[in-house]
Amino acid sequence: MYPSLFQPIRVGHLALKNRILMGSMHTGLEDQAQGFEKLAVFYAERAREGLQLIVTGGFGVNTHALGMPENAEFSTLCTPEQAERHRIITQSVHAEGCHILMQLLHVGRYDHGSGGVSPSSVISKLSNRSSLELSHEQIEQIIADHVRCALLAKDAGYDGVEIMGGEGYLINQFLAPVTNFREDGWGGDAQGRSRFPLRIVQGIRAALPENFVISFRLSLMDLVEHGSHWLEVLDLARQLEAAGVDLFNTSVGWHEARIPTVAMVVPRAAFSWAAQQLKQAVSVPVVASNRINTPEVADDLIAQGHADMVAMARPFLADPAFVRKSQAGQSSAINTCIACNQACLDRIFTRQPISCLVNPRACREWEWPIKKAEKSIKLAVLGAGPAGLACAREAAERGHRVTLFEPSIRIGGQLFLAQKIPGKQELGETLRYFESEIQRLGIELRLNTTPNVALLADFDHVVVATGVVPRRSGIAGENNAKVLDYMEALRNPRFLGERVAIVGAGPLGFDMAELLSHSKAEDGSVAAFEREWGIDQKRELRGGIKPIEIIESPRQLWLLQRSKLPMGKTLPTTTGWIRRNKLKNKSARLFNDVKYIHIDDNGLHLRIGGEQRCLSVDNIVVCAGQESHNPWSARLEAHNIAHTVIGGARDAHQIDATRAINEGAELGRKL
Ligand code: SF4
Repeated sequence: MYPSLFQPIRVGHLALKNRILMGSMHTGLEDQAQGFEKLAVFYAERAREGLQLIVTGGFGVNTHALGMPENAEFSTLCTPEQAERHRIITQSVHAEGCHILMQLLHVGRYDHGSGGVSPSSVISKLSNRSSLELSHEQIEQIIADHVRCALLAKDAGYDGVEIMGGEGYLINQFLAPVTNFREDGWGGDAQGRSRFPLRIVQGIRAALPENFVISFRLSLMDLVEHGSHWLEVLDLARQLEAAGVDLFNTSVGWHEARIPTVAMVVPRAAFSWAAQQLKQAVSVPVVASNRINTPEVADDLIAQGHADMVAMARPFLADPAFVRKSQAGQSSAINTCIACNQACLDRIFTRQPISCLVNPRACREWEWPIKKAEKSIKLAVLGAGPAGLACAREAAERGHRVTLFEPSIRIGGQLFLAQKIPGKQELGETLRYFESEIQRLGIELRLNTTPNVALLADFDHVVVATGVVPRRSGIAGENNAKVLDYMEALRNPRFLGERVAIVGAGPLGFDMAELLSHSKAEDGSVAAFEREWGIDQKRELRGGIKPIEIIESPRQLWLLQRSKLPMGKTLPTTTGWIRRNKLKNKSARLFNDVKYIHIDDNGLHLRIGGEQRCLSVDNIVVCAGQESHNPWSARLEAHNIAHTVIGGARDAHQIDATRAINEGAELGRKL
């Protein structure tokens, strides 16, 4: 299966059996107690499953390289003592027949605390502070720090290093005119701006032998105004190759770019065309990245000559066995990364340990061994939504005999409905994975079935995972025929009129607004995505951007919330801005601090900014949250049947798929 993906390749002196690179990902494990032991377990499990090349998360090249120098002990590599700690990682990965590169990182002005340093003093969009302009001596020192870090990585047993030159970090800041307006030898023109990364590569290559791999993470498109021009990127790549780079791993977009690059709304492999343009200009292997999450997509883009290899990072959180399953032709058994960011990137930005929505065991492997239960029990799970599915899967994996009861005709619960939201189709992959696991593990699935208590008394334990129901709005007149709850609207959006008010602007309200404002022009293609977000494949302007095209919404929408908080404030960090911008571009009207008065045949009467108005709308969709749905606990208690309530049925407050799946899996592993 996947002949292109599993074709051998050489990277420097390394002979690899497949073309999959596990891309750099910050896990935060290194900052925890016994963090390097945990990282070793994390990487070794993925290596054991067939990976051939891993790149670690970024380690700072000096004590200030990541900001927060007080936390630098474990996240930077500056001393032989620190290098010694890494040995457990390199040895564990090598023992599984895999290679590993360490990423060298300096964040420059992406310092969340102080504003950091950069070639020129510029406001950092992440910290909102001005960065400090580096002196010539400081620049020379940072180059030397990169070389020292690479030498220490070699001592620690790494097969090479990856130099982080993309995503708007320090090297990228040197390359782009938007952050480098120096007039000395480190700026002035493209050649001057390229000097910093070239000196780093030349320094490392001079200090280390040919059999030490140098990968360079190259920004193909900065996706910011006054970023690098494409011709400059090509010229830089050729010079870096001549200086000793063995591999170009590619990236797209700075962290401050206002174009999504890794979220679910980005079509799969949307940027592989840019890797192809680089591949035509250099002779060392080129790695495509961003939104590659299935073996089919990966194999296809290699077969089409878009890249020599593919980088995937989050897909290895979702499924450590991605490579083995792909090679065995079991792609339907892969737990696919759905690019939600909810348990990985969103947690990085709030400095929490990361995991994965679809695989809560990710980054907890050392405390969550996969092992059979001492005694197999007979388990009934009531509800095949995300919590029930995760519990049933985990319990069956451990050898319990599981029967999964679902009153409707399909599995998925709220996940099934949510995949109808534009840009959330990837949720269907999670349902496909659970269907495959139900088959593999022999879970007895009883759809369209509500058991009676007598039947449940025959089980050793019952899990109540019956989920949630929509909360009512409490607005006078809410029984008017114009009013629907979000479940009704999701099931039949085409029956809604052209003017719609949405009551509640949390994640449910935004989902609904996206569904109802979706136009035929948004057909999910790469071309439509580029038009919507202003990405220029011709690369005429710097940064690879062009003006966006306004997309007409088929409906007039009002998205309303009672709270005075800014609209969308409670949405996740890495995707909330995307959702706000999408609606803004469609001229949806967003109002906070709204006082609802009543609903009648004329529409929704309310007060906005102290002014009383009536929105004469065709429909009012209530997205006012959810309430637990648990018709079982009292009956089970009355009959002394042992049971546990999980997910939204236990607590509906801020329930989402991350918590539901985590609670289900956690219970499954403890039964
Ligand atoms: Fe992928 Fe979401 Fe898991 Fe992150 S949390 S790895 S984006 S599925």
